[in-house]
Amino acid sequence: MFGDIGKLDVVREQLNEVSSSFCMAKWMHVTIHLMTGHTHSCYLPLPHKIPLSELKKDPSALHNTKFKKIARKQMKNGERPAECKICWDIEDLPGNNYSDRHYRGVDDWTLPYFEKVKNLKWDENINPSYVEVSFSSTCNFKCMYCSPTISTSWMQEIKKHGAIKLSKHDHQSIKWLKFKGHNPLEEDNNPYLDAFWEWWPNLVKDLMYFRITGGEPLLSPNTYKVLEWLNENPQDQLDLSINSNLGIPEKQMQRFMDLIKPLVADGKIKRHILHTSLDTWGEQAEYIRTGLKLNDFEKNLEWYLNEIPTGSVAFMCTFNNLSVVGFKQFLEYMLSLRKRFNNEKRQILLDIPHLQGPEIFSAQILTEDFYEKMNDLIAFMNERQDERIGIKKAEIQKMERILAWMKQEKSEDWLSHQRSDFYLYFKAHDERRGTSFLETFPQMKEFWQLCERTYEIGLKS
Ligand code: SF4
Repeated sequence: MFGDIGKLDVVREQLNEVSSSFCMAKWMHVTIHLMTGHTHSCYLPLPHKIPLSELKKDPSALHNTKFKKIARKQMKNGERPAECKICWDIEDLPGNNYSDRHYRGVDDWTLPYFEKVKNLKWDENINPSYVEVSFSSTCNFKCMYCSPTISTSWMQEIKKHGAIKLSKHDHQSIKWLKFKGHNPLEEDNNPYLDAFWEWWPNLVKDLMYFRITGGEPLLSPNTYKVLEWLNENPQDQLDLSINSNLGIPEKQMQRFMDLIKPLVADGKIKRHILHTSLDTWGEQAEYIRTGLKLNDFEKNLEWYLNEIPTGSVAFMCTFNNLSVVGFKQFLEYMLSLRKRFNNEKRQILLDIPHLQGPEIFSAQILTEDFYEKMNDLIAFMNERQDERIGIKKAEIQKMERILAWMKQEKSEDWLSHQRSDFYLYFKAHDERRGTSFLETFPQMKEFWQLCERTYEIGLKS
């Protein structure tokens, strides 16, 4: 994503000379969930809790936990940390396969640090060059695939109505979140946040990429604190990314614009990318992401694009089973933006990760007639392929990969379970939020009826 993949073979050899499990991301990347006190490097292994006792001694324990240092020791010794299984699985496949460990090795935020990390003792602290952070769970949206851990709106709904009863478990159970230590802390009383600000002046000088996620970052005072700090202490090496649902009140949007404009215009940071999310278009998109009002979204997006002439926008589409029937309209919107705003200084970017969990929202549970709709979508994309202002080849390939993944063999038991839960979830969704699945997704009527029948048959058996 950020590196020269032409260097993959050479870098793989270099990494393997240190050890066959050595990975730069364990040192140079971190995602920190400050609202729950979790950290992971890279973003693929499950996050682990940051012990407050370690934080008291050194705020860089937000990254350099003892837990992580044990994994680094294993990597230096050629042992495989179990948490990185996703990479070992790829590397053990027959043939010449590149894992994320290899891709991370060529990234521009790891390559310059290779010698330094190679020579570092396993238990030495280091400042990462790529940091992703979430300050708070405050959010005015409750997207179907999100959770009370990262959305206060979800939390309020679950507190009011309770968890959603699915066939084998309670979905979004607060009791379970507390048990797992994922209950979010208040933003004004959070030792992890205090540690972050203690670490920040030392951390920022080594940072190449900094990304703020949420919750909704533009509703967090800490996001504005970062922007104010950078206005007073320019960091021209820094690539700053901020996520936003672009559904925030005008007052906050104005404040964001007032702070981001001088950062970009006066070269106080290297680059800014605004990340936002849409998974389809129209009222179907608003159904998936409760709180989204497309009129406000479009207004705020255009505000940003018109006033920040070098600011890029990255769409993250979490492709799910409700995306298929309306995705073409979303692509038409995205193409109209590319035509108007793409230039040599900025891009409208599109990432299409497919949703893997919760599995009830996965496109894998759809019936075979949806493959035809996917083929139409791929044909539509092919007709508009153009690397500058059209659909990029890599985006078409991604959609083809999603279709191949949808077609993978699934067990009947698994399908029945997920489809029953699909019905139970959206029935509860409609009751709680006053929506109508069938009115919003008339093209999915037969699938809905199948899910309903599957649930009823399950009840009788
Ligand atoms: S080995 Fe793979 S999973 Fe582990 S930190 Fe590196 S890239 Fe991430």
